[in-house]
Amino acid sequence: MAKRSTVPANAAEVPCHVVLAEPWSASAIEADETWWSFPDGVADGDLVITVAHARVPAILQVAELWLDDNEGWGLNTVEPYVPIGIAIAALERRLGTRFSTEPRTLPVGVTADVLAAITSEDATPTPWSSLPHRCLDADDSKLVQNDQFWGCNACGAYAASRYRPRLQAHREPRGNDPQFSGALAVCPSCHDILHQPLGPTFDELMFSYRPSCPRCDAKQTFKLLMGMPPGPPPYGTHSGGCAISAPDIPSYICQACNFEW
Ligand SMILES: [Zn+2]
Ligand SMILES: [Zn+2]
Ligand SMILES: [Zn+2]
Repeated sequence: MAKRSTVPANAAEVPCHVVLAEPWSASAIEADETWWSFPDGVADGDLVITVAHARVPAILQVAELWLDDNEGWGLNTVEPYVPIGIAIAALERRLGTRFSTEPRTLPVGVTADVLAAITSEDATPTPWSSLPHRCLDADDSKLVQNDQFWGCNACGAYAASRYRPRLQAHREPRGNDPQFSGALAVCPSCHDILHQPLGPTFDELMFSYRPSCPRCDAKQTFKLLMGMPPGPPPYGTHSGGCAISAPDIPSYICQACNFEW
C-alpha cells in the first residue's frame, strides 16, 4: 500500500471503480477489521477510488489496484493525492450531481470528470462551512462568546491572551459522541481540523493537546479545577472543590483510572 506511482497517461480509458471501506476508523484499520467492498469484474491495473463513512462520507484515496494469481491484492496510491480526504458533499457540489458511496464501476466518460473534480478540490478545498453542518448557529455563537474566559475548549489556547480569534460554536456530527448536548467553543483553527473529513473526534483532538496519564498512559485527561470558577467550566474540565490552600494541587485527572496529578 505504501508504494506510489502517478496516474497512468490513459487514466480516462482505464476502468475506474468505487470501493467502500467499512468500518473505517483508526482502530478498525489497526485491528484489520476494515472490509473493502469491490464491485464485480475488477482487474489488475484498474483505477480505484476508495470511500468511507468517516466523520462524513469521504474519499480516502485514488489508487491503482494490483491483483495476483494467489488472491493477493493491494492499492498503490496515485495522483491526485488526497492526504486528509475529500468530503463527498464537496465533490458533489463540484460535479453538480450525486456521488454515491456504493461500490460500482464508474460509467465510461464519468471517470475523467470525477478525477478532475478531486484534483480541483485538493488544490482549493471547499470550506466546510459551505457544506451541510450543525455548527455556527446564531444562539450557540452567542453562548460560546461567554466562554471566552476558558479559551478554545479543544486546544485551550487564547484563554488569557490579549489578542485572540473569535471562538466558534461546534457541534459534533449527529450520532457521534452523544455526551455533547450543547455547543463547544473552539478556535477557528481547531474548528477546521474537526471538520476535516478524516479528522479527529472532539475528544481525540482535545486529549491530543493534554499530557497522557503518568499511571496508565491513557490519553483521556481532564483538567482539574480547584477554587471558584467565574462560571461553569467547559467540557473536559472537572471542578475539584475549593481546596486551594492544599499543597501540590493536582491539575489533571485521568478519565480511565481516576489518577490525579
Ligand atoms: Zn483551538
Ligand atoms: Zn463544527
Ligand atoms: Zn490513568
